[in-house]
Amino acid sequence: MNILVINAGSSSLKYQFIKIEEEKVLAKGLCERIGIEGSKLTLKVPGKDDYVVEKHMDDHSVAISMVIDALTDKEHGVIADMKEIDAVGHRVVHGGEIFACSVVIDEKVKEALHVCSDLAPLHNPANIIGIEACEKAMPGVPQVGVFDTAFHQTMPKKAYMYALPYELYTKHKIRRYGFHGTSHRFVSERAAAMLGKPLEELKIITCHLGNGSSIAAVDCGKSVDTSMGFTPLAGVPMGTRSGDIDPAIVTFLMEKENLSAKEVNDLMNKQSGVFGISELSSDFRDLEGSKDTNEKSALALEMFAYGVTKYIGAYAAAMGGVDAIVFTAGVGENTALTRGQIVEKLGFMGIKIDPELNKIRGEEKDISAPDATVRTLVIPTNEELMIAKDTAMLVK
Ligand code: AMP
Repeated sequence: MNILVINAGSSSLKYQFIKIEEEKVLAKGLCERIGIEGSKLTLKVPGKDDYVVEKHMDDHSVAISMVIDALTDKEHGVIADMKEIDAVGHRVVHGGEIFACSVVIDEKVKEALHVCSDLAPLHNPANIIGIEACEKAMPGVPQVGVFDTAFHQTMPKKAYMYALPYELYTKHKIRRYGFHGTSHRFVSERAAAMLGKPLEELKIITCHLGNGSSIAAVDCGKSVDTSMGFTPLAGVPMGTRSGDIDPAIVTFLMEKENLSAKEVNDLMNKQSGVFGISELSSDFRDLEGSKDTNEKSALALEMFAYGVTKYIGAYAAAMGGVDAIVFTAGVGENTALTRGQIVEKLGFMGIKIDPELNKIRGEEKDISAPDATVRTLVIPTNEELMIAKDTAMLVK
């Protein structure tokens, strides 16, 4: 069964075409600048040169048609006919309280997605456009929605409620949702496989550390707490997002700096985090490269690691123990320095890593020291494969 995985943004569309039986990526690529001058499609097929088509894409429907054309292209493609696309799996950012698992998309689901758009106005509308574009280009091909929030719907109420007036929850659905759920689910399942134990018997803390970062407490396979909240702004400092701050800073800034709600929101989302602290870059490679000569880069790295360390301590306490820590995503998979800084003070909990093993980048590995009682694992995430697996399972 061949699954097309779509991650639609407002002006871009990422795709992967996966043969699910072999868990093999047949092709992947990107449509950029949809609706903007200079649109471009890229198709990458293992063993072949990249195929680039520079042609204007008015909207996402045109982009999807171009993806199908590229996949079926005689010279550069991987299939002879679009009939070989058996189903489409869509990454959808917000499923609100409605979606606790992946679903086959029908009219009712689409209506519910519009309701959830209120909670993710920057992301969900683009995801819906991607779904409608696929319906138009591939009528009759089943489509599945896989939600970033769904995995965290198992959190207990004490973990997801904010101590605000209760009616704000009933009226506006203000609560913790959490994000990166597909990644936390994927790596926790892989962790159980690596440890050779059933997921239902494990307490795992999964650290998805990338440009956006979130930590999750996964108890017996279920997310019981996570660091992102009502939006992806909460939790540890990120590339350009502040993470947790005293909420009173928001109104203080609005008054002192005469900022509008949108301006303060932009400041916290786009000018803060390790970028705001280092005044240099949101990219951890730049921070590592400059930390010895730039105090602010060093501080940004320390603040990030300290933030993650505190969440690990908190979630071990929340679960009454921990069997494994998982590092994943761009930073978690690649930066030995940051992994080392995060676990530096956690030896008292039995979390110890082997400095030699810690040197690895981007590969699945148990990097625990021989005397560690808690395993520390590096696991490359694969949200697209998880989406493809869910899609295949639901349409079978
Ligand atoms: P992600 O959001 O998961 O794509 O992660 C992106 C971030 O991972 C980048 O901003 C970098 O800071 C970091 N990153 C990616 N590759 C490396 C690497 N080889 N070494 C250090 N940091 C990396």
